[in-house]
Amino acid sequence: MYQSFNPTPRTLMGPGPSDVNGRVLTAMARPTIGHLDPEFIRLMDEIKALLQTVFQTENELTIPISAPGSAGMEASFVNLVSPGDKVIVCQNGVFGGRMADNVRRLGGQVVLVEDTWGRAVDPHKLQHALQTHPDAEIVAFVHAETSTGVMSDAAELCGLVSDAGRLSIVDCVTSLVGCEVAVDDWGADVVYSGTQKCLSCAPGLSPLTMNERAIERLKSRSLPVASWFLDLNLVMGYWGEGQTRSYHHTAPVNALYGLHESLLIACEEGLAQSWARHRRNHLALCAGLEALGLEFIVPENERLPQLNAVGIPAGVNEALVRQQLLQQFNLEIGAGIGALAGKIWRVGLMGYASRAENVFLCISALEAILSQNNAAINRGVAIDAAQAIYEAAQD
Ligand SMILES: *Cc1c(COP(=O)(O)O)cnc(C)c1O
Repeated sequence: MYQSFNPTPRTLMGPGPSDVNGRVLTAMARPTIGHLDPEFIRLMDEIKALLQTVFQTENELTIPISAPGSAGMEASFVNLVSPGDKVIVCQNGVFGGRMADNVRRLGGQVVLVEDTWGRAVDPHKLQHALQTHPDAEIVAFVHAETSTGVMSDAAELCGLVSDAGRLSIVDCVTSLVGCEVAVDDWGADVVYSGTQKCLSCAPGLSPLTMNERAIERLKSRSLPVASWFLDLNLVMGYWGEGQTRSYHHTAPVNALYGLHESLLIACEEGLAQSWARHRRNHLALCAGLEALGLEFIVPENERLPQLNAVGIPAGVNEALVRQQLLQQFNLEIGAGIGALAGKIWRVGLMGYASRAENVFLCISALEAILSQNNAAINRGVAIDAAQAIYEAAQD
């Protein structure tokens, strides 16, 4: 007969979910209470305040959507885009493509600004699109493209958008807490994230923040929002101020205990310290992987510290290597997706997983497995290369 499910503990170094901090798992196991219980309402208020801190915003509408990052993306578009609206979407990977698909499904018209996969969004191309499409009122782009390991310059892109008097939608699913996200300083209008990347919380929630300009556009729609569940007019009645909250949907109570704990952990560490930790571990991993002979697909100054995309050595069966890493080391790394499927590995160093022990585990496990597969790699030098980065950081 069926029995309780007990997964083998893994080290999660893929594109997400990342390793969940034990404190978060413990928090999620606490007793479920009613979602309109005064104690729960206090928790909701704290979550909103903590989310404002990590997003670096004073936006009142800063809440977790009760569904994964993809729902945050969908909520952003469904609330702001009406049929016929023209939207500029910058695409340099899989997730920009999904943004464009959201616009099309809502009956909007997409102006695609394309960049090579593995490169940042080019601000000049966006500037050109803003000039040639003065009627495009919304611009969307991905800050941290998890499919390629690229970081785009969100401050510069948001600046162009607001200077042109348009609204920005920014995907910060992978960036939040792993590198700087400064919603108010950027002047970003709508920003969404996810819990399962650098927040190191369980998958299934999507923090979202929206400023007054975007709310104005939402309030002045002539057609109702096409999704009932994601209509932020209704969601705000639930997550809004004070005791007047009315039932919208049943909040995922225990999942929110987990989010609260993960936000506390992020604030205890400090955002700047977290970004620095992600960067230090990235540099060590990078030194180790390059010493092995693996090549990054992204130029150095555009790399994401939390997601490292490297090419597959010649003659190596990439899926077999991932399978062997899982079987022999309980280590998960990610495969390529979209145009990069079969061409790269994606090694995540997200949130709680961004630790020196994981850097050394990943480098040594890859060295062992690639050696078993007779890959042409440099043996016996990678650990020293990573170690040198940590030693230099201490000086
Ligand atoms: C993971 C991810 C998403 C989707 O989040 P889910 O929680 O998987 O739905 C969206 N955008 C980016 C950039 C991501 O990395």
